[in-house]
Amino acid sequence: MAFEGLSSRLQNVFGKLRGKGKVSEDDVNEAMREVRLALLEADVNFKVVKDFIAKVKERTIGLEVSKSFTPGMVVVDIVNKELTELMGGSNTKLAKANKPPTVILMAGLQGAGKTTSSAKLAKLLLKDKHKPLMIAGDIYRPAAIKQLQVLGEQIGVPVFTLGDQTSPVEIARQGLQLAKDNGHDYVIIDTAGRLHIDEALMTELRQIHEATNPDEVLLVVDAMTGQEAVNVAQSFHSQLELTGVILTKLDGDTRGGAALSVKAVTGCPIKFAATGEKIEPLEPFHPERMASRILGMGDMLSLIEKAQSSIDAEKAAEMERKMRTAEFTFEDFLEQMEQVRKLGPLDQLLDMMPGMGKMKDMKNLKVDEKQIGRVEAIVKSMTKEEKRKPEILNHSRRKRIATGSGTSVAEVNRLIKQFDDMKKMMKQFSSMMGPKGPKGGMK
Ligand code: GDP
Repeated sequence: MAFEGLSSRLQNVFGKLRGKGKVSEDDVNEAMREVRLALLEADVNFKVVKDFIAKVKERTIGLEVSKSFTPGMVVVDIVNKELTELMGGSNTKLAKANKPPTVILMAGLQGAGKTTSSAKLAKLLLKDKHKPLMIAGDIYRPAAIKQLQVLGEQIGVPVFTLGDQTSPVEIARQGLQLAKDNGHDYVIIDTAGRLHIDEALMTELRQIHEATNPDEVLLVVDAMTGQEAVNVAQSFHSQLELTGVILTKLDGDTRGGAALSVKAVTGCPIKFAATGEKIEPLEPFHPERMASRILGMGDMLSLIEKAQSSIDAEKAAEMERKMRTAEFTFEDFLEQMEQVRKLGPLDQLLDMMPGMGKMKDMKNLKVDEKQIGRVEAIVKSMTKEEKRKPEILNHSRRKRIATGSGTSVAEVNRLIKQFDDMKKMMKQFSSMMGPKGPKGGMK
């Protein structure tokens, strides 16, 4: 996952401080030396690191520590706040035109993820009940238009194109007119990228800018390229006034330098973070959540939001009741699995939970999506009665299920055993919780 190296190094540094009742100036200096190295290794801009350390040190001098916190915790808190500030403080929302449509111009180098991010942004807008239109303005890269059309079809967003023989400026102009005529409230203009920044690219972008007067100019940069992403952002920003950055490929093995330096170097906020090649709604970038994620404090807020938007509250309450009373059947098991699956790839979820980022290193926790598919197949091959009364699953029934699901009897046995164990655990848990919550002894 992104930031893994940085995250584990910072957690080590602070682990040492947290354990201490008192923290001396030497301790803080030593910790800051290590933080500095960790940031530089994560490819954070040199000057940004210097300013960052100076700010943290300034705030730790003469620290007033209240009784309820150890000085170590206070230092962690200061670093958390400064990291948040570094990335822009709080989430910067997408602009909205006074008079629709809101025009969003997408810019960036080839391969940064412009086309993919355009579709992800459109999907986010759809989710928020808007009516976006995408304009295919990249007439140079073979198949770029087709790619946008395919994505548009997949998510149900129309794509305006005039093929690759009309100038992008004209395409943008006509697309915008169509959006106005058809009542689209957002327009996303995908533009051409180049391998490097060149004059022709900038001129074209400036012309499209002039013709469409965008409310947002979003630069798409690839987080995996580290400092290069920051340089690209700086060059674009000096020639074309950017209003925000979309940082892509945060799912990859990025060291995190770009996320931590873009705002500080260019003054331009990261508005969205993109992960994965699948078209999921683009996620608004929250500096405060990212900072606590880096510091291993988890990102429970994002997790809760995700859960709220994808899990059916009524179903969840019913499930909770069933778990408490241990009337849990294979049907519930399958349903629960589907709910969890809606949340997205499990390893991404683990990243968001406090302390879980580290646990994932344990190989046995590797979440295998294929395995989930097999479990699903097994449960779906059971009859209604079997799902409700798993105790009737004798050998011949198990054999039939294995054949029906294309798995083996051993796999079916394993799943039934897991299910039984889970039920036992629930029983124990519910007797521990009692009707009024945890009994003494549990913290
Ligand atoms: P463009 O040239 O800027 O339009 O870039 P594309 O949208 O075509 O993306 C280039 C490649 O990066 C494609 O293979 C995408 O699937 C992939 N890609 C885009 N965004 C992400 C992301 O957030 N994570 C990952 N892992 N891949 C991405």
